[in-house]
Amino acid sequence: MNNFSFYNPTKILFGEGQIAKIGKEVPENARVMLAYGGGSIKKNGVYDQVVKALGDRLVSEFSGIEANPEFDTLCRAAEQVKAEDIDFILAAGGGSVIDGVKFIAAAARYDGDPWDILTKGGKVIRSAVPFGSVLTLPATGSEMNSGSVVTRAEYKAKLPFGSPLLYPQFSVLDPVTTYTLPVRQVINGVIDPFTHVMEQYLTYPVGAHLQDRLAEAILQTLIEIGPEALAQPENYEVRANVMWCATMALNGLIGAGVPQDWSTHMIGHELTALYGLDHAQTLAVVLPANLRVRKADKMPKLVQYAERVWHITEGSDDEKAEAAIAKTETFFRNLGAGTRIEDYDLNAEVIDTIIAQLEAHKMVKLGEQQDVTPEVSRKILEAALR
Ligand code: NAP
Ligand code: FE
Repeated sequence: MNNFSFYNPTKILFGEGQIAKIGKEVPENARVMLAYGGGSIKKNGVYDQVVKALGDRLVSEFSGIEANPEFDTLCRAAEQVKAEDIDFILAAGGGSVIDGVKFIAAAARYDGDPWDILTKGGKVIRSAVPFGSVLTLPATGSEMNSGSVVTRAEYKAKLPFGSPLLYPQFSVLDPVTTYTLPVRQVINGVIDPFTHVMEQYLTYPVGAHLQDRLAEAILQTLIEIGPEALAQPENYEVRANVMWCATMALNGLIGAGVPQDWSTHMIGHELTALYGLDHAQTLAVVLPANLRVRKADKMPKLVQYAERVWHITEGSDDEKAEAAIAKTETFFRNLGAGTRIEDYDLNAEVIDTIIAQLEAHKMVKLGEQQDVTPEVSRKILEAALR
């Protein structure tokens, strides 16, 4: 096992009715900004519950944070935070709203050009406005981690950043808030956490036995309940389990002391920035192809994945690895996600453009061994084509 520090200060309030507890978590005299997206929280009652829970506090609002939150929008919100002397931000929505609030919290306390936060990384962040979240779309894990991804459409860029100052102080996870999710987002909400686990688990083996078993437990739970989440939108137990899987997939626990890959995510970000695919759709396209192209390097872990997660016991190591990758892709397809570039009305011409963007964003040494060069990324995209 590699050395690690583990730190996660986010308090989780889990379960039906927990939004009412926000009043105890947000400082009494805080001037609060309630930040949200395109209005789903107004349709499903989350907005009303949040406003009630905030009680007499002075609350202003910032709405319109887009899916794949946009730099310009978030800069406007940061200006509002400064102008109104906001001292607590409450994010209500999915990963985009929570990621967006992380950027707003940092940008509002940053004296330089906010673009630095994306180009120079989280190290420029010295302070951030405290914030909490009410999660309505379990998928990203943003509710219990310190990372974020922000898009600047003008440059067709979608860039990650993070800082230990950007953990939510608390996050409310009420599974009932997910009952109104469109089918496409439920699918995304299984594939994104599944891939988060794979990026941390399917790496060069280092003998982190507990992390491996935890990762396998999340994968198996998602395989079992993913289809049920689609078939039974108002099954509380099922939605509760999906929600907790998504949080546990990316709160630092399974990633402690293990090498991490993240090449599927970085290649996927370019697909979203250039062609507008949902985040999880890009992962469904890139992950199976990535595992196929890098099968030899990942062989020992692929065999473990095959045996323990998919119960594949027959055949050579290579056959087991192939079968496990095929099972993974079939799982995504059966949920309803396209797993090939051509499924999204794109063709081979996009590959050069994606590679050029990866190079422009210095994403040229990806993966746990930093050996996913643009040439390897090209092979992955070619394998993902049809
Ligand atoms: P999202 O972009 O936050 O939301 C997608 C859509 O779902 C929005 O249109 C939203 O509508 C709607 N929605 C949310 N909750 C709903 C509900 N309960 N009922 C009905 N509609 C609802 O999706 P996401 O997958 O959670 O976030 C994706 C973003 O997170 C991407 O930018 C991705 O790169 C990033 N990400 C971050 C991390 C991280 O660790 N920080 C990890 C992976 C991915 P409204 O706008 O109207 O609310
Ligand atoms: Fe993700």
